[in-house]
Amino acid sequence: MKKLCVIGDPVLHSKSPLLHNAMLREMALDGDYTYDCQLVPARDLKDWLAQAPHLGYVGFNATMPHKEALVPLMDGLDEDAKLYGAVNTVCMKDGKLYGYNTDGRGFLASLEEGGFRASGKRAVLLGAGGAAKAIALKLVQAGVSALTVCNRTAAKAAALCAHAPGVMTPAGFDPDTLTRAAAEADLLVNATNLGMADTHAQFESLSFLEALPAAAPVYDVIYHPPETELLRRARALGHPAMNGLGMLLYQAIFALEHFIGVEIPAAPMAEKLKKLL
Ligand code: NAP
Repeated sequence: MKKLCVIGDPVLHSKSPLLHNAMLREMALDGDYTYDCQLVPARDLKDWLAQAPHLGYVGFNATMPHKEALVPLMDGLDEDAKLYGAVNTVCMKDGKLYGYNTDGRGFLASLEEGGFRASGKRAVLLGAGGAAKAIALKLVQAGVSALTVCNRTAAKAAALCAHAPGVMTPAGFDPDTLTRAAAEADLLVNATNLGMADTHAQFESLSFLEALPAAAPVYDVIYHPPETELLRRARALGHPAMNGLGMLLYQAIFALEHFIGVEIPAAPMAEKLKKLL
């Protein structure tokens, strides 16, 4: 039996074992692979990597705090992992480690599943952390004409926008700036922690939604709770609204493709996983 897992700290809340084991069952590969959860503190990462093949692991997903730390430890990286400077999927083959990042592809696939094509559109992204970086750079690759990155810490928005200065513009996070940015947007994506379950942090004001053109979708990368206050207000104003569940499912599907080396029909698999959750 080949072993797969997700590593992180904390990690016990991760939905990855549920998703991957369900996909392996669906593909009748549950007799070949099993997927579990490994609590690996940051200080133990290198030791765990050295032990993992001897424990039967052939691949793993990584969540915080490991995504960036894995980059210099890889023997090879895919283009997205290089671009984001972060790895969420690792395959171990013949003593070598190959790092991938499926977060940006997962976001774009779920956005397109929701019927939105980013090419030529203007977008506003709230946040400049790890998730925001993958989303921003994937939106740029997908051909957005303009992307305003609004973040509380100005330096982080500026650093992210430096990747594509002709397309991305950094901006602040105060209600007036958010309103001005939203008024010019065809899509608004929240990639901050605001509204996430177990945090008390909320948007100071959601009045920027009133400035957003009515047809513009609102995408929240948060999936717990399934409907944040941002999405509830967006729906009430008539905006198409999507939560982060699709991104979670598609990044897992694309990760499993790397592990098993087989293409998976992504949309039907995502449908099955949605029913499961
Ligand atoms: P991160 O790297 O820590 O970034 C957090 C972002 O939120 C930063 O831009 C931060 O701004 C902003 N933020 C935090 N508290 C804030 C506040 N009180 N006011 C304004 N801005 C605030 O975290 P991450 O890994 O990118 O994750 C962000 C969210 O995405 C989380 O809710 C996570 O669960 C979700 N996520 C979802 C998926 C999915 O598959 N759906 C995947 C990855 C992440 P500063 O720069 O100013 O600190």
